[in-house]
Amino acid sequence: MAESFKYGGYIGQLLRVDLSKGGISRELLREDWARDFVGGAGYSARLLYEEMKPKTDPLGPENKMVFMTGPVNGTLIPTASRSSVCAKSPYTGSFFHSIFGGFWGPELKFAGYDGLIIEGESEKPAYLWIDDDRVELRSAEHLWGKNPFEAQEILRKEIGDDEIHIAVIGDAGEGLAPYAMILVDIRAAGRGGMGAVMGSKKLKAIAVRGTGSVRVPNMLRVYNTSLKLSELMNANPGVKGLSDYGTPRNVAAMNAGGILPTRNWQTETFSRVDGITGETMREEVVKGNRACFACSVNCTKYSVVPSGPYKSVINGPDFETVFGFGSICEVDDIKAVCKADEICDHYGIDLISAALSVGWAMECYDKGIFTKEDTGGIDLRFGNADAMLEMTELIGRREGLGALLAKGTREASRIVGKDSYHFAMQNKGLEFAGHSARPYPAMCVGYATGPRGGSHHDIRNTPEKLGMVDRKTLEGKGALAAEINHWLIMCDCALLCHLAEPIWGPDKINNNVIEALNAVTGWNLDFPQTRKIAERQWNMIRCFAAREGFTRADDQLPPRFMEDPIPDGPMKGSVMPKETLERLKNDYYSYRGWDLETGNPTRVKLADLGLEFAAEDVC
Ligand code: SF4
Repeated sequence: MAESFKYGGYIGQLLRVDLSKGGISRELLREDWARDFVGGAGYSARLLYEEMKPKTDPLGPENKMVFMTGPVNGTLIPTASRSSVCAKSPYTGSFFHSIFGGFWGPELKFAGYDGLIIEGESEKPAYLWIDDDRVELRSAEHLWGKNPFEAQEILRKEIGDDEIHIAVIGDAGEGLAPYAMILVDIRAAGRGGMGAVMGSKKLKAIAVRGTGSVRVPNMLRVYNTSLKLSELMNANPGVKGLSDYGTPRNVAAMNAGGILPTRNWQTETFSRVDGITGETMREEVVKGNRACFACSVNCTKYSVVPSGPYKSVINGPDFETVFGFGSICEVDDIKAVCKADEICDHYGIDLISAALSVGWAMECYDKGIFTKEDTGGIDLRFGNADAMLEMTELIGRREGLGALLAKGTREASRIVGKDSYHFAMQNKGLEFAGHSARPYPAMCVGYATGPRGGSHHDIRNTPEKLGMVDRKTLEGKGALAAEINHWLIMCDCALLCHLAEPIWGPDKINNNVIEALNAVTGWNLDFPQTRKIAERQWNMIRCFAAREGFTRADDQLPPRFMEDPIPDGPMKGSVMPKETLERLKNDYYSYRGWDLETGNPTRVKLADLGLEFAAEDVC
């Protein structure tokens, strides 16, 4: 089958597993969809739009999960390590793509598949074993209840191979916790509750071993492109910082610039930041580096706290862990941050949503909305590291106040009331990652319109932060946000890593992306053609959301961003008033050719992108 596929980089085959019937089948990758959507999130959105009905229960058997690679995975192209897992999210209620790195995706291609569609629901706990052509559903009753690392260890022993790659859920996924994640070897498909979808299907794990390869039209061209891109990456100081300090490389600089979200975003400077900087982390806990397939950056750190109350061993912490369990909770101890990371992995929960839920609860406690009676005696003050860890543990176990916080800040604030929604730091239910918005209009409108909600992988503040454009002006910010959307989604469809931002972005689709895609596929894309594919991918995801009932009214920011100016530091006074946001949304929708009233793509736009089939549903 691989031999017959028209374009390089692809295997040409998908695997489909029906858990209700125990059926396993193979089917052709659609050439037209590969050309129109490339792979990853875009291909999955097209497939799920076709195969799922609107209003499907995210935790019911009708929801489908698509694990998908892209054409670059498994080749030498730098950072071609990523994979996507997509489904209707139980956390946001719309299409969600969660991206993870490591080796699992390339291994799936080496086993002979571009992607994997999971449908139905198993009667009993099961795991999927993909060993090249041999694909089996096996009982996972002995794995149910095991934490992700224990389950991986048992599976590796059982299969007799230490080098297989395993996606697995923990207790949170089994228990359908709304922001449960999937651990993939040492990495996570963290966001959007994909672990809960997997748990609802009683699918504990997917283990993969592949011994094949990926065909490209001209090996020398791929080799030379990869070499050039690697040299570019290695020469870039921003990328070098990633190697040295991991993603927390800029914690000190962000704080100095007044854009490190702190105290549940009440401010954006942290007076005790020294305890959680990349430099402190490197000195105190980091013991080694971890790389992904085809990547020399090694940005993931391996950290050990050998003894004491925060004794832990983790792959991390990443910036999001440091901001979430550090500055958001005003905890200045990197060792406590490591422990919080370990707890999240142990239970299989998204650490951004968990940390922001703890931060929200700390603010409730600070304001007297919660008392010790509510917290079970825990003194949930900002800065209390032990209280933060106890509450994270309770979220993992979904006990006491943790049961409420495991629902996330949007739902918890709806239940609690008392104006706590004002500081529930989320959009569409998904908590924000640690990238400042209030000083940056394009970032604000990008966060508000993001299909996943508070995801820093749908929008970036880099061009505004680095002064590539006038930070304060509103002019052109709708267009800038849309073009940033485009480079990010193109990477999520080709499956390149956003962290190599200077190479693939940062303000629009970079020629390097086009060169990498052309080299592996044999296409001859130019910028307008590539941009149009990205626009199609973005509109496809918007159509899915519109069909679920999402409209302009859902493109929002938390009241805190719209009403509370940053109170101090270099960005003092920055705020995004609601009326300004609405103006930016008009600018953004107009640039995209979307209807200003509904925020949905128009018939004209859909026809232009070849998405006419969605017009009945969304126009
Ligand atoms: S930059 Fe980091 S996360 Fe991205 S592919 Fe490389 S090692 Fe993996």
